[in-house]
Amino acid sequence: MIDSSKHQGLRKRLVDDLITKGIDSAVVIKALLKVPRHVFIDSDFESHAYLDKAFPIESNQTISQPYTVAFQTSLLNLVESDKVLEIGTGSGYQTAILMEICKTVYTIERQHKLYRKTKKLFSKLNYHSKNIIYGDGYKGLEEKQPFDKILVTAGAEEIPKKLLIQLKVGGIMVIPVGKNIQEMIVVKRISKLKFEQENHGNFKFVPLLKDLN
Ligand code: SAH
Repeated sequence: MIDSSKHQGLRKRLVDDLITKGIDSAVVIKALLKVPRHVFIDSDFESHAYLDKAFPIESNQTISQPYTVAFQTSLLNLVESDKVLEIGTGSGYQTAILMEICKTVYTIERQHKLYRKTKKLFSKLNYHSKNIIYGDGYKGLEEKQPFDKILVTAGAEEIPKKLLIQLKVGGIMVIPVGKNIQEMIVVKRISKLKFEQENHGNFKFVPLLKDLN
């Protein structure tokens, strides 16, 4: 995995662009500068890695646009000690950003091919590959709950109940909700039974699917 000074220069330029677009969290900016986005994209298309654009990956899925990754990560208000669950590993780029910021990050992917590919890449990059889990993220991750933060990186038709239950009191979930276009919803768990929601604008994601296959 080569991270040349050219890659680093392009990355710096991308991050400057994201700052211009309103990204201002210091921990998020630091992680964006560190993670080599080009290794999460097929090497033939490396030149696309540092454009602020989504890009196709394996199994008809997409690596999210850098701005979207930066925005969702900022909304989580992460601190190092947070235990985080991500739904929709995909290329693993967003996962790597989370792992740069927090000690404990779990991520679930339902496409087996993509899961295998990203797990292999994570071992090479020395990220916690064992925390990449194959399964249906709609159900959350019962055995590791509760989570301080939950991030969904696919568009959900509604907020999965199981994810709400697995959020700590005081915790935050960021989830794009909607059928064709999604609203970026931030859910805060105020108490055992009380949740508050805020809407942070419209985005476009691949769908969060229920059940495997
Ligand atoms: N964070 C990823 C986004 C990939 S797109 C990245 O930046 O690369 C969203 C991913 O969610 C896809 O890989 C898709 O396969 C996955 N996905 C969709 N429904 C899912 C579910 N129920 N459980 C787990 N993953 C799911």
